Amino acid sequence: MNNPSNNNTYVYLYSDLDKVESHRKDWDAVRGLLGGKGANLADMTRLEIPVPPGFTVTTEACNAYLAAGEQFPEGMWEQELKAITAIESATGKKFGDAQNPLLVSCRSGAKFSMPGMMDTILNIGLNDDVVKGMVEKSGDARFVYDLYRRLVQMFGSVVMEVPDEVFEAVITAKRKEKGVASDSDLSAEDWQLVTTHFKEIYQTYTGSPFPADPLEQLKLATEAVFKSWNGKRAIDYRNAAGIAHDLGTAVNIQTMVFGNMGSDSLTGVAMSRNASTGENVIEGDFLYNAQGEDVVAGIRITQTMDELKQEMPAIYKEFSDIASKLEQHARNMQDMEFTVEQGKLWLLQTRDGKRTAQAEVKIAVDMVEEGMITKAEAVARVQPSQIDFFLHPQLDPKAVKSATVWGNGLNVSPGAAVGKVALDADIAEKWAKDGEPVIMVRPETKPDDVHGMLASQGIITSRGGRTSHAALVARQFGKPAVVGVEDLTFDWTERTIALDGITLHEGDWVSLDGTNGTFFQGEIPTVVPSLENPELSKLLSWADEIRKLEVWANSDYPRDAQKAKSYGAQGIGLCRTEHMFFETSRLPVVQKMIMAKELSERKAALAELFPLQCGDFEGLFKVMGGDPVVIRLLDPPLHEFLPAYEELMHDITDLKMKIQHASELDQLNAHLDKLRVDEDFLTRVEALGESNPMLGTRGVRLGIVYPEIVRMQVRAIFEAAVNCKKSGVDVRPKIMIPLISHINELKLEKEILEEEAKSVLAQHNVELNYEFGTMIEIPRAAITADELAEVADFFSFGTNDLTQMTFGVSRDDAEAGFLVHYLGRGLLQDSPFDTLDQKGVGSLMQLATQRGRSSNPDLHIGICGEHGGDPRSIAFCHRIGLDYVSCSPYRVPVARLAAAHAALKDEQNS
Ligand code: PEP
Ligand code: MG
Repeated sequence: MNNPSNNNTYVYLYSDLDKVESHRKDWDAVRGLLGGKGANLADMTRLEIPVPPGFTVTTEACNAYLAAGEQFPEGMWEQELKAITAIESATGKKFGDAQNPLLVSCRSGAKFSMPGMMDTILNIGLNDDVVKGMVEKSGDARFVYDLYRRLVQMFGSVVMEVPDEVFEAVITAKRKEKGVASDSDLSAEDWQLVTTHFKEIYQTYTGSPFPADPLEQLKLATEAVFKSWNGKRAIDYRNAAGIAHDLGTAVNIQTMVFGNMGSDSLTGVAMSRNASTGENVIEGDFLYNAQGEDVVAGIRITQTMDELKQEMPAIYKEFSDIASKLEQHARNMQDMEFTVEQGKLWLLQTRDGKRTAQAEVKIAVDMVEEGMITKAEAVARVQPSQIDFFLHPQLDPKAVKSATVWGNGLNVSPGAAVGKVALDADIAEKWAKDGEPVIMVRPETKPDDVHGMLASQGIITSRGGRTSHAALVARQFGKPAVVGVEDLTFDWTERTIALDGITLHEGDWVSLDGTNGTFFQGEIPTVVPSLENPELSKLLSWADEIRKLEVWANSDYPRDAQKAKSYGAQGIGLCRTEHMFFETSRLPVVQKMIMAKELSERKAALAELFPLQCGDFEGLFKVMGGDPVVIRLLDPPLHEFLPAYEELMHDITDLKMKIQHASELDQLNAHLDKLRVDEDFLTRVEALGESNPMLGTRGVRLGIVYPEIVRMQVRAIFEAAVNCKKSGVDVRPKIMIPLISHINELKLEKEILEEEAKSVLAQHNVELNYEFGTMIEIPRAAITADELAEVADFFSFGTNDLTQMTFGVSRDDAEAGFLVHYLGRGLLQDSPFDTLDQKGVGSLMQLATQRGRSSNPDLHIGICGEHGGDPRSIAFCHRIGLDYVSCSPYRVPVARLAAAHAALKDEQNS
């Protein structure tokens, strides 16, 4: 929780930013106190941007209020009253005065933007007397009653929790009664009657009349903002976005300006650059003669900023100058709310704009090229998870070609999503929990829907613009979304959606493309896009200049290695050779080798495998052309290559039945042959059977028990290397021995394997740069790393096994079993198989690194477990001084950026 400020000031005017700064160490602390919105409003005021006068009640006041059991801290209310007086003199208006009334809005504003957490209350300060005075003075009763009904509606629903639907139902009924389609067609008298009706509803639901005293309205609104910090939707949002729960929210009270004062008035929301693509053009929506939330709510169809440019060029020019001034000042793309009141432009809010991953990358790179930020800042700004987006699936263009587009809307958040239609957030969440992919389809979304949006693959709405709630939240969480599909209709009784004569039921499949705003009935296959994006390549090349860790890839086949290399991998950190053994065409030969009763028989099978392995390695070396290639010798227990015991027992029983009932001799003989084969398998499976095969004859132990297998592999590696070398391809083979726990295993294995290597090289009279190393995946290996490093040229942490063995949990079972309970109950924060357990497994890695380098200072050390692609684990690997991380090809770009972030953090701390 923030410490109370030493001067017990809880309220600051926007013009008082210097006072805040005098006792806050930096801008982050200012934002912490005033909230992002309040801090930016004060900052804009200082920049002499037209901001309606106002003040901020601090987050400290909120925390003090909540801590005291919902009591304002001493002196706060008096300070708020003083601030109102100050705005009164700045505007020349008076709160509650019927002749010249001051009206204010009340908005929440936490340190981090939490879209729509607490809805805004507009027009505070109105009551019957003020309204009467305003009508007399302005002569525009329609306008004034529209303001009044909004106050009662917003105050009722936001502060007193009267269901908003009740108010909306009155308006809908009124439109029907009058036979009009739009609110703007309702008259002054209509709004007056609606307001009276609203006040009755207010009284019915709350048991008391609507408060006529403006100060009472202000007090209750302030309290409502404070309380909203602990509302369910705020807590859900903070949990999803990883925002701390003890920050509190500030309250912003600001003089009202009116975008609904006629045809020279409007209100809008705009971004200084395109939030979907990052293009450097102002993008936004506005509505003539409208107030505040109308634009975001998406109830009326908005106009674009291009239209504003055409229709009000001077206002557009002023706005675009302000937008670039704000961008220069914040050194970031801005999301601004503005109002034009009778031809005068006002800025109501600015903040760093939420954007898609592509836009984030493009804006960061463009801003470096515009000289606004440094390369390091650009790299730091893009999050590794955003790189993921570029690897996200897209709808398969071939399938799209033969499909018919069902509907179109605004392309507000790119990427493809395929799932079952869910018509509300709870259903979406429930189905997603059951493992179903869902697309949430709604008329619009509200903060209460965030849990459903998070659970969905994608979102479709029939209303809303680029800055609607649905668009903002979808972009923030990387959910593909199409909004504003105007003709899409909902039948809530049948639970169906319909468009262009086609009706889908909830649960039917739909596929959407958030990149171009189209969607399709049914399930369209997806493909992974290419990383060939010029801005991304540039950004990653800057990351490469910054990072210290090398990034390698785990690849078994030339095609994977090719992909990894194109993503920037500097070597292969793990080739799991058993994957080649599992291939259908090879498995029978591998089985023959395992089933051999005599050594000669085994050798014959190995001789068959040899040229195949040789070809595998040659392919990898050619792709990597001189970059290091770590090839791990056979690792899994041999029984994994044979049919499973249960499967064999079942087949044998079945065959015996068939034999008994066979009516033809050929059939009988075929069954008997198969029975003999299965029984042989069974005998071998039983002989190889171990109670805990993961802790049994695998890794180096296989090589010790069956040396001829690994000798064959090493010969194949070196023959392949020699072939490449002879054809002019440079090669750097690194042979990795798995599952070492004792120095003697490594010594013995290295001795026989090096002998094999030397014999191949001597035979061809070729010299090669090669190394023998080991995986560190058993705690004993980590602890005795100093001994191992005397024999090994390199270490690679196999953190999948090291985690399994350090925790003593089976990696194959834990994640589907008890670990789920542990995570659900908070016993563990994360699965240690997803992100490295730095305290336990990480300590062993640190120890092994120190001990290994103490006896072999040149020891090259990396990681090849799954953690090698996880940003947090990568940061840890950087801190303990590893040389490289190796991860799956698709994680390589993420790892390049994460490694750069780790290096930048290091620089900051030093
Ligand atoms: C490991 O244990 O981390 C590793 C890379 O090897 P495997 O996953 O193949 O056991
Ligand atoms: Mg392993």
